[in-house]
Amino acid sequence: MDCLFCKIVAGEIPARKFYEDDQVIAFHDIGAQAPVHFLVIPKKHIATLNDLDEGDQALAGLLLLTAQRLANQQGCDDGFRLVMNCKALGGQTVYHVHMHVLGQRQMTWPPG
Ligand code: 5GP
Ligand code: ZN
Repeated sequence: MDCLFCKIVAGEIPARKFYEDDQVIAFHDIGAQAPVHFLVIPKKHIATLNDLDEGDQALAGLLLLTAQRLANQQGCDDGFRLVMNCKALGGQTVYHVHMHVLGQRQMTWPPG
């Protein structure tokens, strides 16, 4: 499958991966927008948030809890931001579900 993040999961493209379990991996974003900026992704290919279904409920929760735990391990205990972009208007550029974790700088609202 021609999916960048599936290739990172398979180890076919290098990434600064720092966490892996049987269902998810986490790696630093190549275009970091904050001092801490990493992505938590399912190993299974799911193109967009719209492609999640009820069978993915536990996996979706695992992404969230993994992001929370790793954010704190990366020193973001004063706060952090989670972002999931869905499809074109949501700003999604890589069509494999991922959760951005951003931290170690002040976030503002609303986003651009
Ligand atoms: P999206 O815009 O789809 O929500 O986010 C995709 C993210 O993937 C972007 O923040 C981008 O910097 C990151 N990204 C794109 N290609 C690569 C890559 O080859 N390696 C890593 N580590 N991150 C990537
Ligand atoms: Zn994929």
